[in-house]
Amino acid sequence: MRIDVLSAVPALLDSTINESIIKRARSRNLAEINVHNLRDYADGKYRQVDDSPFGGGAGMVLKPEPIFRCMQKLLGEREYDEVIYLTPQGVKLNQKKANVLSLKSSLIIICGHYKGIDQRVIEKFVTEEISIGDYVLTGGETAAAVLIDAVVRLIPGVLNDSESALTDSFQTESGFDSPVYTRPAEYEGMKVPEVLLNGNHKDIARWRGQEGLKKYNKVKKKKSNNK
Ligand code: SAM
Repeated sequence: MRIDVLSAVPALLDSTINESIIKRARSRNLAEINVHNLRDYADGKYRQVDDSPFGGGAGMVLKPEPIFRCMQKLLGEREYDEVIYLTPQGVKLNQKKANVLSLKSSLIIICGHYKGIDQRVIEKFVTEEISIGDYVLTGGETAAAVLIDAVVRLIPGVLNDSESALTDSFQTESGFDSPVYTRPAEYEGMKVPEVLLNGNHKDIARWRGQEGLKKYNKVKKKKSNNK
């Protein structure tokens, strides 16, 4: 998969793409991630990427020209499956969406900053608007890090044990993954459930399903009380 990210603050993505699972995906050539600095496409001595909003009001807006130029360059080189703008106003990201995006071969992700991006960029290029939750972040880079992580870890060959991703929360029928334990079998008086130690895989699978469901229902109840 190829992912191109457009950003006014590319350094915010450094650790996401250069560490852990994403780093491994890149080194195995399973994911190519290119972060484009919008300043490289801006005019003038100061390479300004933002300007004040027409109509007045607080906050700066990312100018259309640098984004248009970068988009036109990328689209001139190849076709992309989706052009995603990350915005709190988008459709909320969930596991199903991450699964679908992990099957694509090329994505562009546009990160907003300040008050957002010039609306003409959205009208001209964007095929999907995605939010990572009902709250407002300073910039789309944090959201891009979340989206890239959720998608890239699903690409076959990225995780050493591909089953791991398939048994994670939201992939299983029970909604949540089960609690997990590792050695020692007893720590500070707290014991690992006996069923996990007996080697009976049927019993273990049943227990995991039940525990995942128990937690899922508990959280669902909490969420409905929070509404
Ligand atoms: N004025 C915008 C609004 O109220 O909808 C918020 C702008 S926000 C301060 C700056 C940028 O951060 C946005 O353009 C977007 O790219 C990104 N962003 C903020 N919250 C986000 C979220 N929940 N999901 C995805 N992107 C988000």
